[in-house]
Amino acid sequence: GNQKIDATNLLRSGHYMDGAWCSGSETYPVCNPATGEVIVQVAKGGAAEAQQAVGAAAAAFPAWRALTAKERSNKVRRWGELMLANREALAELLSREQGKPLAEARGEVAYAASFLEWFAEEAKRVYGDVIPSTLPNSRILVLREPVGVVAAITPWNFPLAMITRKAAPALAAGCTMVLKPSEETPLSALALAVLAEQAGIPAGVFNIVSGDAVAIGSVLTGSDVVRKLSFTGSTRTGKLLARQCSDTLKKLSLELGGNAPFIVFDDADIDAAVRGAMASKFRNTGQTCVCVNRFYVQSGIYDAFTQAFAEAVRKLRVGNALTGDFDQGPLINEAALHKVQQHVSDAVSKGAQVLVGGKRHVLGGTFFEPTVLVNASADMLIAQEETFGPVAACFRFDTEAEVIAAANDTPFGLSAYFYTRDMARTWRVASALESGMVGINEGIISTEVAPFGGVKQSGLGREGSKYGIDEYVELKYLMLGGL
Ligand code: ADP
Repeated sequence: GNQKIDATNLLRSGHYMDGAWCSGSETYPVCNPATGEVIVQVAKGGAAEAQQAVGAAAAAFPAWRALTAKERSNKVRRWGELMLANREALAELLSREQGKPLAEARGEVAYAASFLEWFAEEAKRVYGDVIPSTLPNSRILVLREPVGVVAAITPWNFPLAMITRKAAPALAAGCTMVLKPSEETPLSALALAVLAEQAGIPAGVFNIVSGDAVAIGSVLTGSDVVRKLSFTGSTRTGKLLARQCSDTLKKLSLELGGNAPFIVFDDADIDAAVRGAMASKFRNTGQTCVCVNRFYVQSGIYDAFTQAFAEAVRKLRVGNALTGDFDQGPLINEAALHKVQQHVSDAVSKGAQVLVGGKRHVLGGTFFEPTVLVNASADMLIAQEETFGPVAACFRFDTEAEVIAAANDTPFGLSAYFYTRDMARTWRVASALESGMVGINEGIISTEVAPFGGVKQSGLGREGSKYGIDEYVELKYLMLGGL
């Protein structure tokens, strides 16, 4: 059966290396962003711990890779089942360290578990190939082999899902992993390790070191033993890590920032567009890399859409996830709050008008009012940088050509959205947008079965789907002669 783990046993504070929990000499506090309360002091790791974890992952690799795909599959699937069996406890811990509403945290547990289920299935389908040979008495074979030890560095906005989206395909393919979770949200990661152990994932296959990001990152990127880095986070840090990986020429998967446009054409279904706008913009309090950053609304429905949108935003309930049923939580930290405030004041100083919100929430801390701005223009910071907060900036446009040029006028290309009921326009715009993912009459696009990833400076590689496992596999070609 599926055991529930005692919630207190899911709360860990050490590193997880080679199947053992170790405390470090130094610690740092992990806080609830809604209250500032210190949840627990966790071990603060550095270069030595990272080195140790890499050693454990390297030692565990041969035996893990030698298991049959079906054996690996069973363990990875079991890990996902244990997540679902412990959904409430994981969701509560996630909300406590990250701040997102409980309903969203429950959704994230299921989303995170879905990658373990999906890649447990894909583990069995890492097929090779036989190529007709150009030489007589010979065969050409292609094998797909695990890349080896993988390092993963993950962000705080999805403390569970960003880990399983990497660990599931890596372990399924036969790789072992060292994870450095975000310092802001290590507790969800450590809870995952408790469940991995319970699922029978052998010692050393999945290791976690948290703490000093720069020191741990240097070891992971500089190591000869680590063959691949999979990173999700800011474009700035992604570029830095890619540079650090160049000396050892690691394979790279980078899931970086976006600047998502959301285009509402005159012929759109306004109610559907408002629903999509709410879901995409305000999910996780605006703190996702696929959150809309720029709303482009055609002149004919500009007023109707922005009024209906503002009306919906006024109804959002803001609060501490652990004390009630809310739609919005706090921002992750002071720096995030500062950026949101800066984007709003810059926009207002350049002519934007506030329809709703616009300032810090009466709850204080890092809570910010869900905000809709109209009259936004291309010279504003909010048009150029990812706000990563609950602020919707609405731009007016007239023609399709004009809005496509504006939408693509950014170094980023992660997600884009548009609403129209015209079939010819649907195909034209979908192909013209420079973006790895496009939501058409749909604001939520994340699912384990589809390839998630960006173009331009939004990153390299894809996660999830049948393509996701390729990131953890190398091709090996065998020329078999003398037959
Ligand atoms: P954000 O600014 O949204 O926190 P980051 O890209 O800085 O985004 O963080 C994403 C992840 O990258 C986190 O786990 C963080 O600790 C890690 N990180 C940040 N800087 C470095 C670095 N120099 N080396 C290794 N990891 C880093």
